[in-house]
Amino acid sequence: MTSPLANIYARLPVSFTHGQGVWLWDAQGRKYLDALAGIGVSCLGHAHPRLVAAISEQAARVIHTSNIYDVPQQTALAARLTALSGMREVAFNNSGSEANEAAIKLARYYAYQRGNRHAHIITMDSSWHGRTLATLAATGSEKARKGFEPLPSGFIQVPYNNADAIRAAGDAEPRVAAVLLEALQGEGGIRPSDIAFLQDVRRLCTERGWLLMIDEVQSGIGRTGKWFAHQWADIVPDVMTLAKGLAGGVPIGAMLAAGPAAGVFTPGSHGTTFGGGPLVCAAGLAVLDALESENLLDNAHQVGSHLKDRLAAELAGTPGVTEVRGRGLMLGIELARPCGVLAARALDAGLLINVTRERVVRLLPPLILSRQEADQIVEILVPLIRQFLAEHT
Ligand code: PLP
Repeated sequence: MTSPLANIYARLPVSFTHGQGVWLWDAQGRKYLDALAGIGVSCLGHAHPRLVAAISEQAARVIHTSNIYDVPQQTALAARLTALSGMREVAFNNSGSEANEAAIKLARYYAYQRGNRHAHIITMDSSWHGRTLATLAATGSEKARKGFEPLPSGFIQVPYNNADAIRAAGDAEPRVAAVLLEALQGEGGIRPSDIAFLQDVRRLCTERGWLLMIDEVQSGIGRTGKWFAHQWADIVPDVMTLAKGLAGGVPIGAMLAAGPAAGVFTPGSHGTTFGGGPLVCAAGLAVLDALESENLLDNAHQVGSHLKDRLAAELAGTPGVTEVRGRGLMLGIELARPCGVLAARALDAGLLINVTRERVVRLLPPLILSRQEADQIVEILVPLIRQFLAEHT
């Protein structure tokens, strides 16, 4: 039978009917440990009572009004996010791509207001910022961009984790307006930014009048053990983007602005019909409440360190394991060879993971993960990796 679905995702042969905590059940009643959380989205796990109640209660009152009116839930969520980040304003939208698209537009508007009509944005090799045309142009993946040209111009890709390369790009191109980077690359293979790199780039952007725009779509909202991964470097960006975990599974995106980026957008500059509606903002507030009241940032840090240490210890000396890396509950195991098949084998074994950059097994479990559940991940995954590597020696 031909599928009525557009063929845009390679799908594994399973569908889930319900979930609870870090567990999902399929239509046959089989239970899976969800160590992927919908690719970093379900930060509170599944069916979290606080999130379910907030969504149900809000849905019963009003689901949608319009951004042409005051939306109190949106104002409240914006206030919480600015307080947590030290930033000044928030524009809501519906996805990570849209949040980055807004950031790119903001950088261009910022430059335009200063007489720069061809704003260039420096981005990183192996970065991932989305699949809309501008975010694809910003994304450091030839493979993702190929075939979609012509893409918007004005993006310069430089090697990641190298402030000198950014400086040199700025020396060569006087129309640079911003630097866009992930504090911890996700799709790029779970590659953390060096602390010194982030601090150098912060200084460089301030010196040159460039906006520092940090994409926290995958790494934000507690995943690395701080609210935002760049906070490990004790810096504040000018623009930050969020999505994924922010509303625990309800579609949301947000672009935050501070310093010279605040006040750039005025009514009419940018917008979206759905972004920041009452339902999703009520969900976002419940997520922040739960993360705070259940100490889930600390949990992500503690259980994440435990999981990383255990994986590193179990896999130490295993030929074909290149590195175990990441922060908090954003972890990657890099193998020396392509290992996409491991996602299907893990599924068969009752564990949800995926593989990025062909060789990196990625773990993004819910931030409620317990030590015991972390141990269960190790017990399922390590033998699968060992067996896979043994087959290829
Ligand atoms: N930015 C980063 C860092 C991401 O990881 C992703 C998605 O994986 C995006 C942006 C795009 O987000 P979305 O898929 O919600 O458009």
